[in-house]
Amino acid sequence: MVLFLLLGLGLQAQKTILHCGKLVDTKNGIVLNNKSVVISGKTIESVQNGFITSENPQDVVIDLRNKTVMPGLIDMHVHIEGETNPNRYLQAFTLNDSDVAYNAAEIANRTLLAGFTTVRDMGGSGVNVSLRNAIANGKVPGPRIFTAEKAIGTTGGHADPTNGRKKELMGDPGPKEGVINGVEDARKAVRQRYKNGADWIKITATGGVLSVAKSGQNPQFTQEEVNEIVKTAKEYGMKVAAHAHGVEGMKRAIRAGVTTIEHGSLMDKETADLMKQYGTYLVPTISAGRYVAEKAKIDGYYPEIIVPKALEIGSQIQDMYAMAYSEGVNIAFGTDAGVFPHGENGKEFGYMVEAGMPAMATLISATVTNAKLLDMEGQLGVIESGFLADIVAVNEDPLQNINTMENVVFVMKDGKVYKN
Ligand SMILES: [Zn+2]
Repeated sequence: MVLFLLLGLGLQAQKTILHCGKLVDTKNGIVLNNKSVVISGKTIESVQNGFITSENPQDVVIDLRNKTVMPGLIDMHVHIEGETNPNRYLQAFTLNDSDVAYNAAEIANRTLLAGFTTVRDMGGSGVNVSLRNAIANGKVPGPRIFTAEKAIGTTGGHADPTNGRKKELMGDPGPKEGVINGVEDARKAVRQRYKNGADWIKITATGGVLSVAKSGQNPQFTQEEVNEIVKTAKEYGMKVAAHAHGVEGMKRAIRAGVTTIEHGSLMDKETADLMKQYGTYLVPTISAGRYVAEKAKIDGYYPEIIVPKALEIGSQIQDMYAMAYSEGVNIAFGTDAGVFPHGENGKEFGYMVEAGMPAMATLISATVTNAKLLDMEGQLGVIESGFLADIVAVNEDPLQNINTMENVVFVMKDGKVYKN
């Protein structure tokens, strides 16, 4: 009755109509011309041919007739809490959680305005969980976040937060802090992440480039430890992402059944085959590899122990990616933003194309593929009736010029316009 009266008075809910000159159909891998997308509330109501008009003066029409419109982009690897800078290592001692939170809110906004309406956060301190909730509740603008909370490593491993400190400050972090030794710890660390509100489990299966430790590639979990992590995560409804540069740690993680391998820098053909056999996805993070290899040439940018690792490992990611893609390994778009400045996530598209992946395939990877991995299939990654209204636009057709992805000019998330 109330609805009927409202309709009678012409006060029905406002709709947004996007006039799209070009519209990327990520489901079928084609670009459509002259379409109208009708948005009602948080969802896409319909996609219609031509540029439709509305009788209702409340409705808003947005002219994107000379733009290319596509689903909101999804980055599977960011660190939303912080960002590269030469004081990064000191900041562990100078920033309070509240400082981290304010910084992270600014980063989240920047990420959203760059067209990334959803991100998977691959580890921080726990502020990431609060930020996810604040964004979901509309308190601060930012992308939809799926977070690993704090990454899990082993003593002295890549995710041991006390690496490189003097002994008095090292302490002995345990499963509560995400540092494990043995299967019981493995189980406890996963359960703790679940309790802390994590959506995913992230492990550092091998050494890493930016930790203050010698090896960037050694295996850092036993097979039993990784198996236990994956098994427990599954019981708690979570998937596992494994940071890995070297092949032995990568293989253990793949065999244990992790969903994604992050970086994969030193992957060989044999390991690529193993990934295909297990259906594991590679999250390439070429942007991060190129950035650290570049910054390592600047004296004093990174601590000394990191420089040779950054030069050796960072420079190999793009070539490895070219090999993995041509071998037929599943690819999930992800950048490792935070290792390079947030907001520049769109550069990854160009790097992927440079390494041999067709432009449309990169777009599908950052939308349909990632939505599926996040269990958001049917809600994200496609512009179609019933999907959430996460929509972005760029000036040019990315199939003609992929670098246009670095300059997203229109951003809508959950039906709300954040940039136009
Ligand atoms: Zn990372």
